[in-house]
Amino acid sequence: MLNHTIAQTDPQLNTILRDELERQRTTLMLIPSENYASRAVMNAMGSIFTNKYAEGYPGARYYNGCENYDLLENLAIERAKDVFHCEHVNVQVHTGSQANMAAYYALLNYGDRILAMSVDHGGHLTHGKKRNFSGQWYDPHFYELDPETYLIDYDQVLDKARQVRPKLIVAGASAYPRIIDFQKFREIADEVGAYLLADIAHIVGLVAAGSHPDPVPYCDVVTSTTHKTLRGPRGAMIMSKQKWAKRIDQGVFPGVQAGPLMQIVAAKAVCFKEAQSFGFREYQRQIVRNCQALARALLEEGFELITGGTDNHLLLVDLHNKDITGREAADLLEAAGLVCNKNLIPNDERSAVETSGIRLGTPALTSRDMREPEMLQIGKWVSEVVHIGREDEAVLQRIRGEVADMCAQFPIYLELEP
Ligand SMILES: *Cc1c(COP(=O)(O)O)cnc(C)c1O
Repeated sequence: MLNHTIAQTDPQLNTILRDELERQRTTLMLIPSENYASRAVMNAMGSIFTNKYAEGYPGARYYNGCENYDLLENLAIERAKDVFHCEHVNVQVHTGSQANMAAYYALLNYGDRILAMSVDHGGHLTHGKKRNFSGQWYDPHFYELDPETYLIDYDQVLDKARQVRPKLIVAGASAYPRIIDFQKFREIADEVGAYLLADIAHIVGLVAAGSHPDPVPYCDVVTSTTHKTLRGPRGAMIMSKQKWAKRIDQGVFPGVQAGPLMQIVAAKAVCFKEAQSFGFREYQRQIVRNCQALARALLEEGFELITGGTDNHLLLVDLHNKDITGREAADLLEAAGLVCNKNLIPNDERSAVETSGIRLGTPALTSRDMREPEMLQIGKWVSEVVHIGREDEAVLQRIRGEVADMCAQFPIYLELEP
């Protein structure tokens, strides 16, 4: 069995895999938290590094036979430090949520107060949502976006911080289309004696390339995923000041994890190497240019965007003037080959299942080498689907075909078996 391929061992799963390859090849990935990992990243993820227990850290493992794992983890660490100029980094943490869990575990005690962006305004589940560990084990308080501009209101954050006296302030979001001023967050944290954690799960690639202001100098801890704009393996990392190094590492292992996924750590090393390249900088710049082009196209089609546009890789469409819910719009778009997600907009009167918005992003489109002209076309398709797709099934079919044609011009994973 050791030598068999998926097709030989498991034809049933292989069919699903082939269908998914076809789906990825022929539809547009507009979900801003998704991307296409490179072949090198995927090869590392599927490598023999999966076969080893390596609990502990380089030079201090609990299992024998780890010399190559020390080398690969140190390589990942050195590259991450080079890309992000951080004093310390943990590359073992499995996911973005666990990165936050480990960081809270390292810095906080049960019941401590945290202050973060309201999840309904763009924050993440792990920033204090009631049904998440962060809302159960800690005492979360929230700031909201300015009701007129939908920008972060730093005066309000400061007021809240003064009232709440949090032990930790979380800066970062999953659906915020504008620059976050981490220096201002640092000033607020200092004013109330709080720790500052930046969660850059979404914008990490932009930060790596200098296309978004850098949180690292201002924060005690910076958590991130590696599979979103960074385009690495599904995983995460925690950067910190040297003084928190030991607590963070212990927070990850033995705090919330045991054996690290060393094949994923290897893939992180590959992704950091890719992030060191000039091409990666260019890629991140183009993500932003593409997103701004998509924003312009949608504005021209009469859509309303939260904050009126974007500074980063995503935008949030307010569908109130279109007489359609986020759920309906996202389902129609999917039928036309445009895969995005429904999203709450700030102060949404609808539930998270229905929503009044959709969230669109350009990291994956840009990985396919698409540029401004394609964004213009995608904006027109989105408009057609939202405006007439409900009444006209044939329009969805026609656009589905046109999307597949565009995808064929910007192919992905040609080397993989169909
Ligand atoms: C995606 C995201 C995470 C969590 O990532 P997972 O890997 O899905 O657990 C954490 N924080 C923010 C802000 C995110 O957008």
